[in-house]
Amino acid sequence: MNEQFRQALSVIETLKRHGHEAYFVGGAVRDYLLQRPIGDIDIATSAHPQEVMAIFPRTVPVGIAHGTVMVIERGISYEVTTFRKEGRYEDYRRPKDVTFVRSLNEDLQRRDFTMNAIAMNEYGEIIDPFGGVEALKQRIIETVGDAAERFNEDALRIMRALRFVSQLGFSLSSKTKQAIIQYGHLLQHIAVERIAVEFEKLLLGPFVSKAIALLVETNLFAYLPELATKKQELIKLSSYSLVPVDRIEAWARFAFVVHFHREQLKNWKLSNHLIRDILICLKALEHIRSLTDWTIDALYEYGPYIPHIERIRAAVYDDKPSVHSLLKQWEMLPIRNRKELAINGHDLLVLFKKKGGPWLSEMIENIERAVLHRQVENEKEKLKEWAMCNQKRENNC
Ligand code: ATP
Ligand code: MG
Repeated sequence: MNEQFRQALSVIETLKRHGHEAYFVGGAVRDYLLQRPIGDIDIATSAHPQEVMAIFPRTVPVGIAHGTVMVIERGISYEVTTFRKEGRYEDYRRPKDVTFVRSLNEDLQRRDFTMNAIAMNEYGEIIDPFGGVEALKQRIIETVGDAAERFNEDALRIMRALRFVSQLGFSLSSKTKQAIIQYGHLLQHIAVERIAVEFEKLLLGPFVSKAIALLVETNLFAYLPELATKKQELIKLSSYSLVPVDRIEAWARFAFVVHFHREQLKNWKLSNHLIRDILICLKALEHIRSLTDWTIDALYEYGPYIPHIERIRAAVYDDKPSVHSLLKQWEMLPIRNRKELAINGHDLLVLFKKKGGPWLSEMIENIERAVLHRQVENEKEKLKEWAMCNQKRENNC
């Protein structure tokens, strides 16, 4: 057992002292067995949420209806979820009501894939009723129980399967793959926001090319927002080897290759903030195709986005990225943004004894360009002088 699990042991031990069962479950156990860095630790217990809240001093009822209580121990939070089975599934979405059960087995049975249905007790012993460990060895993603049935219960599992392909590089078992082909259309019943969460993880995975290729092979892309007509573009996307480093880069590269604009991004229900970042990258990529397209003006305009844009450019045009040297060039510019100008609007109003108006922003822009291109030093008195002269020139004197 590693340090993270050892720290979490006290939660299990406390539950057991109070007469309940408790196990580590889910992604943390899977990743631990794969010797991958583990994320949040989830615990499954026979205790009901009210019991969990009564036992631990610091808890947050994050999802009482689904049996989940967050327990905070020594500053670390753990999701403690009561053993449950899920009630009736409606409209191919996760059920509204759940039933608490007293056995671990039943809880593991409702989980999506065998590799995610493994539990570990406080001694580090593995409880694996559905062959999850073998699936990990074989690097196979397989549903717990009948794939068709499980995807009909909750079609989001289809997207989850693909995102695990991207994160782990595993293959789909043939039954799971067949069911995805047959029931991919059920994705249309799932909220776009939930699809986008899984799709973003897919875009960020080290095996994203493999997952995108599968998206095409299984025809799933046809049921994703705005992608039905983008088969060729997705094939192209699957041919790039670069793995994006963050969500802006992931979405921007995807959007660039499949030719998304603002409207399509909106239909994916991405946040306005993220859409803004993506659109800045897309605008840059329209004209920056080779390293020499990184003019002083381009460096200035896209500064903080240089790493994203440059890595996407290099991936798409089969070039080597020059992030480091471009960032250096950006840092060496006389200014990196307008706020760094040694003169501001107020200074100019006083200098010209005029009321504000369009002339002012035009003047600031001119000064900005002149400083950027080293036609004048970024020093207040010099800028005032330059501004006076510039004004005169415009008056033809
Ligand atoms: P990650 O490392 O990305 O968090 P994870 O496997 O922990 O991966 P979560 O979304 O955190 O994924 O879910 C935790 C566990 O809950 C899963 O391992 C799985 O056992 C179960 N689970 C999650 N979503 C579903 C679902 N839609 N259907 C069935 N079981 C699910
Ligand atoms: Mg998790």
